[in-house]
Amino acid sequence: MEERVLFLPLTPGKHQKFQSLLGPLLADIIARFRHVPLDAVLNTSNSFRYFKKYYNEYLRQLGEMGIALNKVDFDESDNYYCYIDDLTRTLYKRGDVSSCRRDIAVCKCGRAELPMENLEELLEFNRGKIVSQDNRCKYCGTGLEKRKEKILSLVITQSDLPVNIIPDRYRKEFEAICSRLRRNPPIISRHTRAGQKVKINGEEFVLDADFRWMGYVNYLLSQNGGNVCLVAGSDCLNHAAKVICLSHLVNPLINYTLVIHPLIKVEGNSSITEMDIDDYLKASGDRAVARTFLSLGLQWTKERTVISSRELYLVKQSIFSLQDKKTEAEKKILDLADIPYVLNRSKMMIFLKSLRAKKSFSGNCNEFFKNYVSLI
Ligand SMILES: [Zn+2]
Repeated sequence: MEERVLFLPLTPGKHQKFQSLLGPLLADIIARFRHVPLDAVLNTSNSFRYFKKYYNEYLRQLGEMGIALNKVDFDESDNYYCYIDDLTRTLYKRGDVSSCRRDIAVCKCGRAELPMENLEELLEFNRGKIVSQDNRCKYCGTGLEKRKEKILSLVITQSDLPVNIIPDRYRKEFEAICSRLRRNPPIISRHTRAGQKVKINGEEFVLDADFRWMGYVNYLLSQNGGNVCLVAGSDCLNHAAKVICLSHLVNPLINYTLVIHPLIKVEGNSSITEMDIDDYLKASGDRAVARTFLSLGLQWTKERTVISSRELYLVKQSIFSLQDKKTEAEKKILDLADIPYVLNRSKMMIFLKSLRAKKSFSGNCNEFFKNYVSLI
C-alpha cells in the first residue's frame, strides 16, 4: 500500500528562524526510518505578501539540512492551480461544498472577513487576533461592516475519521476541533481578498488561501488510498484537522497518522537563539549536528520545549567523536507508534554522552542513533 510522509505546507521566508525546521526534519527522520517517500507542497500564495521568491532558497535550505524531498511543489504552480479548480467543482457537484447567502462582517483591507456569529463569539471571549474589542480591524483600523454575501462552505459530515494520533493525548482536542468543523462548516471563499477564482454554476468565487493549500494531501498521492503520516506542530492541530477532514472527503480510503511535535524555544546565547536558517546551518558546520541539536527539542510530553544554546556545543563535541559515520543502512522499519519512545530528548542525551565517553551503551537505542546520525 502506498505510504507517504508529509508535513503541513510551510511558508518559505515567513518562518525563517531555524527552530521552524523541526517539523520538516521530523518528517524526514520518519520517512528515512520507514523507507517511504517524503513529499511536500509549500505555501507561497497569500493575499497580502509575496513569498514565491523564497521558494528555491527554502528548498536549498531543506537540502542542506539533509531533508530529502521526493516530490515537491508549491501552491501557486499551474498544476496545483488546476487541481484546486477541479477539486472545488467536484466537491460542489457531490454536495461536499455548498453555496449560500450569509451575513459577513468585513473591513476595508480584507483581513477581517468572517460570519457575523463568529465575530460575536470572538468579541465575547476577547480572542480577536485581527478584530479589536471596539469592532475594528487591527490592520487598517476601519470598522467592520455587515454585508449579505454568497459564500462557499465545506460540508464535513464524517465523524469516525481513520486517524491515529501520536502522542495520543492530543486526541480529545483533535476530536473537539473536528466536531466544531462539522457544526460550523468552514467558509472557503472570500469577497475582499485577491486569490484563485473558480466558476460554479456560472458564478465566480474567490477561494480562501487556506483552503487552497489545505487540499494538498490528495494532490501528492498518486493512488487511490494508502497511508499518510502527517507531521504538524502543537500549534497547528486546527490546521491538521482541516487538512485531514478535507482529504477524507476527497478520498475516504486513506489512513492517517498525525504526529504532533512540540514547538522549540532555544534559550541562552542570543547569537544562537536568534539565528535564521542559513546562520544556523553555518554555525552547526555539519548537517548531523544541525539535525541532532534540533532533535533535542523532542520532548513528547510537552507542547513547547526549551533547549539551551549551550547544547549546540555539546552536540558538536559528541558528533565529532563519532569517527566513523558510515554504518549500514537501517533495515528495521520504525513503527510509527514507537516514535515518542525511540526518538526523544532523553535517549538522545544518553547517546551523546556515550559518544563523548567513547563507550557504547547496550540496547537498540545506540544503534538507532548511530544510524540516525549516519544516514544523512
Ligand atoms: Zn482591515
